[in-house]
Amino acid sequence: MKALEDKIKEQGKVIAGDILKVDAFLNHQIDVDLMMQMGKDIYNYYSDRPITKVLTLEVSGIAIAMAVAHYFKVPMVFAKKSQSLTLSDPTYVSQAYSYTKEKNYQVRVDQAYLSSSDCVLIVDDFLANGQALKALINLVKQAGGQVGGIGIAIEKCFQAGGQELRQEGYHIYSLARIAGFENGQVIFEGENEPKNN
Ligand code: 5GP
Repeated sequence: MKALEDKIKEQGKVIAGDILKVDAFLNHQIDVDLMMQMGKDIYNYYSDRPITKVLTLEVSGIAIAMAVAHYFKVPMVFAKKSQSLTLSDPTYVSQAYSYTKEKNYQVRVDQAYLSSSDCVLIVDDFLANGQALKALINLVKQAGGQVGGIGIAIEKCFQAGGQELRQEGYHIYSLARIAGFENGQVIFEGENEPKNN
């Protein structure tokens, strides 16, 4: 999606070698217009599927997942990363490893909000090693539901998650696909490739 790629080029910062910081429009301050365009694009891609719910992970996935759910006119559910007194009813729980925080964490969804009749579109801000997505897929499976597709804002294609999940048969649509970082610059897939005349 060109608007997202342009924004990443303008405002993204490569830190710690392989982390893209997008706090200026996605992970801290939110560009609401861009978020709605991104939601519409993912909706257009999956609009022929019978999606009943959009599922994401707090906090960074919420904005884009809400935009997607808005166009599908279905509820958006976000998995919670911490236990709280309000999450006292039975929950589905699964475990993931955080690449950016370098630690394991649990994700949970109240059993009232995912069921065997759901066809779930999973949405997240980044796909790197696929841990977050695998934890969300596991929650849908525990509920007996079906994964109707996966929509990602930014896929780091040089990390293994996307390939592994596609090999497992999941359909992943990513709005921006990063091939790598070179001297602090973002290189998208298809860029800087030798052209055949
Ligand atoms: P994965 O579980 O696929 O390894 O990583 C996905 C999660 O880690 C995303 O939900 C995102 O929050 C975080 N993440 C992974 N790579 C990056 C990155 O380069 N930049 C930012 N801002 N977050 C990332």
